[in-house]
Amino acid sequence: MRTAVVTGGASGIGLAIAERLAKDGYQVAALDLDPSDTSVVPATDVADRAQVDAALAAVRERLGPVTILVNAAGTDGFKRFSDLTFEAWHRVINVNLNGVFHCVQAALPDMMEAGWGRIVNISSSSAQSGQPFMTHYVASKSAVNGLTKALALELGPFGVTVNAVPPGFIDTPMLRKAEARELLGGTVEEHIQRTPVRRVGRPEDIAAACAFLVSEEAGYITGQILGVNGGRNT
Ligand code: NAP
Repeated sequence: MRTAVVTGGASGIGLAIAERLAKDGYQVAALDLDPSDTSVVPATDVADRAQVDAALAAVRERLGPVTILVNAAGTDGFKRFSDLTFEAWHRVINVNLNGVFHCVQAALPDMMEAGWGRIVNISSSSAQSGQPFMTHYVASKSAVNGLTKALALELGPFGVTVNAVPPGFIDTPMLRKAEARELLGGTVEEHIQRTPVRRVGRPEDIAAACAFLVSEEAGYITGQILGVNGGRNT
């Protein structure tokens, strides 16, 4: 049975991905700042390499080699660029981009050893559209898309695929917090009217795309950015 690690797996999109992969028959470990009581790994900050290495070692010991990695941990931020401190910029880049670097490097030896692997990076539709007051976030997610494309070319010969899923407008605690702070440019209801499929996305919509991309039959798909956004970005 294959073992999957899902970062950010205690909430929202990451939680739905972890649940879906478990339902599909994988052994799943969720890495999170605040994991559930049932997690096989302690609290892990993906921006901290020592914590990531320790978490991966714990998963390996309990569940075996990690050949599937979904990077869903992420943090946002809203600040006018002229008011953005370098510390705030750095924290978002550190979690959203450097976290992916750490987790991929920590899991990769297992995939190389197996001659098989699946990496899915959850980026953001804002990397396609831009988003005011989120320069650090959009920069981090655009970089994740770029990393995905370049890494796919490097790892293809070793049986490892690398793809990105940029979600758009998915009903999670992150989205609702932004709505509550009036940072969405309208309410979720108003956004639904501007969304071609006329509904908000569900975490399960992202999980379905991930379930496909990590499957055996997706082995010829790599370096792709698969938007799941109800048609908001094409
Ligand atoms: P969420 O509900 O806030 O879930 C994110 C999870 O990641 C939380 O459990 C969070 O823990 C965890 N996390 C944050 N920083 C971490 C770190 N340094 N190390 C480990 N775990 C960390 O948000 P979501 O909406 O599901 O977002 C999941 C991913 O989708 C993120 O990468 C986000 O950028 C991306 N995304 C979401 C949307 C959307 O519409 N919701 C759109 C575009 C992209 P805490 O709760 O303890 O902070």
